[in-house]
Amino acid sequence: MSRVFNFSAGPATLPEEVLRQAAEEMVDWHGSGQSVMEMSHRGKEFMGIAAAAEADLRELMGIPANYKVLFLQGGASLQFEMIPINLLRGKGTADYVHTGEWAKKAIKAARIFGNVNVVASAEDKAFTYAPAQAGWKLDKNAAYVHYTANETIGGVEFQWTPETGDVPLVCDMSSNILSRAIDVSKYGLIYAGAQKNIGPAGLTIVIVRDDLVGKAQPTPPPMLDYKTHVDAESMYNTPPTYSIYIAGLVFQWLKKNGGVAAMERKNVEKSKLLYDYLGTTDFYRNPVNPADRSRMNVPFTLKDAALDEAFLKGAKERGMTQLKGHRSVGGMRASIYNAMPVAGVKALVDYMREFEKSHG
Ligand SMILES: *Cc1c(COP(=O)(O)O)cnc(C)c1O
Repeated sequence: MSRVFNFSAGPATLPEEVLRQAAEEMVDWHGSGQSVMEMSHRGKEFMGIAAAAEADLRELMGIPANYKVLFLQGGASLQFEMIPINLLRGKGTADYVHTGEWAKKAIKAARIFGNVNVVASAEDKAFTYAPAQAGWKLDKNAAYVHYTANETIGGVEFQWTPETGDVPLVCDMSSNILSRAIDVSKYGLIYAGAQKNIGPAGLTIVIVRDDLVGKAQPTPPPMLDYKTHVDAESMYNTPPTYSIYIAGLVFQWLKKNGGVAAMERKNVEKSKLLYDYLGTTDFYRNPVNPADRSRMNVPFTLKDAALDEAFLKGAKERGMTQLKGHRSVGGMRASIYNAMPVAGVKALVDYMREFEKSHG
């Protein structure tokens, strides 16, 4: 049996070691005589799995004690709504930075609940850059400032953390969480769907500073209130148990492989391989401002779109899949999250070079 190099944007490739361990533990987890999928979420086995996953995530990201970690469901998309519901706190206005497809969805959802002030937008250049903070028109009375750390579709990533003073900074880190070192204490809330850079779909991680919990006005229905999930330690209702278990295995894998710092070095190396090659050719094109290029998602177009199908077919024959770009931008996209080995990116660059030679 051989595995492909899977460049999917999400659900995305997982570390093979994690999959093998999960396979080994599938039928009988640690002598318990049952699969993790079959366990009560309130039993001591699963409570131990969830507690270890949280402790490992806290260690990996250096999450301070005054932050709560929640394991929720509903994807980043539910957070687009839960954030304004919980964090507007009667203030009425929130600041949003518009950087592309995902920011747009977050803005649209927030507008249901309050006033959204778009403080900066990259729309003038087709969302190919991250607007410098000097140009942001921040409102010091805003309830919070929201930005998208990595635009998964456009391939634009903030290489810096915004400074928002006393206004809580809220960040969608769905597609670059754990890919680089960050200072959690600069944020009011961080959220991420697990299916890009962590584990299976169905799990959403929310990291929230404790003073922001329980201040929603009006009080939301319980499932939409962070306070409910904080008070119940993410067990108000049945959590996505198997997804939490796999995420926990991924956290252990990250720790064994040098943690976030080592991943960041590897991600710099992998993305550089691709961008350096793209810089040498006119056959492929990446439209993003070089300083804002994503280390996680590398979109590129071929000189002639009529060659797209042949490119994808050849890639598949060489064991490389899911390179087709998002339908909104066309072309190709290579998603190269933590679990993508350097060998996968090398194989892709070799193939791109070969394809250019035979079709250029
Ligand atoms: C995938 C993605 C989302 C949407 O996630 P769902 O889990 O499908 O709701 C939101 N934001 C970013 C940056 C994403 O990459």
